[in-house]
Amino acid sequence: MAVGFPPAMGLTVVGSIAFDAVKTPFGERERMLGGSAVHFALAASFFAEVRVVGPVGDDFGEAEYAVLRERGVNVDDIERVEGGKTFFWAGEYHWDLNSRDTLDTQLGVFADFDPKLSPAAQGAETLFLANIQPDLQRRVRALCGEARLVGLDSMNLWIETAREALLHAIAEVDFVFMNDAELRQLTGQPNLVRSAREVLALGPRAVVAKQGEYGAALFTPEGFFALPAYPLETVVDPTGAGDSFAGGFLGYLAAQGADAQVDERMLRRAMTYGSVLASFNVEEFGTERVQRLTPEEIDARFEEFRSMTSFEAVESA
Ligand code: AMP
Repeated sequence: MAVGFPPAMGLTVVGSIAFDAVKTPFGERERMLGGSAVHFALAASFFAEVRVVGPVGDDFGEAEYAVLRERGVNVDDIERVEGGKTFFWAGEYHWDLNSRDTLDTQLGVFADFDPKLSPAAQGAETLFLANIQPDLQRRVRALCGEARLVGLDSMNLWIETAREALLHAIAEVDFVFMNDAELRQLTGQPNLVRSAREVLALGPRAVVAKQGEYGAALFTPEGFFALPAYPLETVVDPTGAGDSFAGGFLGYLAAQGADAQVDERMLRRAMTYGSVLASFNVEEFGTERVQRLTPEEIDARFEEFRSMTSFEAVESA
């Protein structure tokens, strides 16, 4: 399989590059590397050659770049704004970790972000529009004319403040990754299945409904597939789980090559890699666990998912 093999295909991600302050029942971090593009890139880096696009301020230091570089992520398209401040987000999780409050969002350099992509970033086969303002997502989509596999994530903030732009953005992508509450909010439809069908009708070829500790469900025009989350006894910090999921999912698809037909089997494997990467992400704060993750650990957990989700008799459980 692809994990650990030389990266096959280019993958560009645009999204937030951040400092996060996070408090969970298990501890807190006052300022750690985060951002949707960062979590995605680290997860996808196990499968493909990843380029991160996004702005940072001059408070973004060598140590932060090094986390990305050490995973082989290309940082040439990170735009450093002298005198600017890196995006900052603060959140606090409740005791069961299923819900969180955003305590602070400081856009910093994101307020004036005008995406400029190098030719290499624009030529990527695979593109992920991580959670940022939907008009920005659309501009990057338009710049990456050759992208064949395009994914998008979003959040309640944009559903509330830029719904029309988000609907247009969704119509221009192949894969939508949103949590189930966001799908319901976007469509105004309380039933998740109907809600996913409504989003599919906008144009994407698949909708992934992320369900936190309950796993994730895949809706396509032809079918349905769902996986539980990996049963972890200790979850420390769920921040970035969704982006890591998308990184495993799209990274795996990118590694299959330009000629690969994305069929149901491939999508189910992508769901599994997404679930594997998300499960590692939440074991520790921020990027800490994924930074020292190995391809062997990914492969081992992938096989555990196989036996965990089969309802045929297994020879050795
Ligand atoms: P997730 O847990 O998947 O929702 O992603 C968490 C990451 O999203 C954190 O590392 C934050 O830095 C980032 N984030 C939070 N709010 C926003 C926002 N409004 N725009 C872009 N990124 C955000």
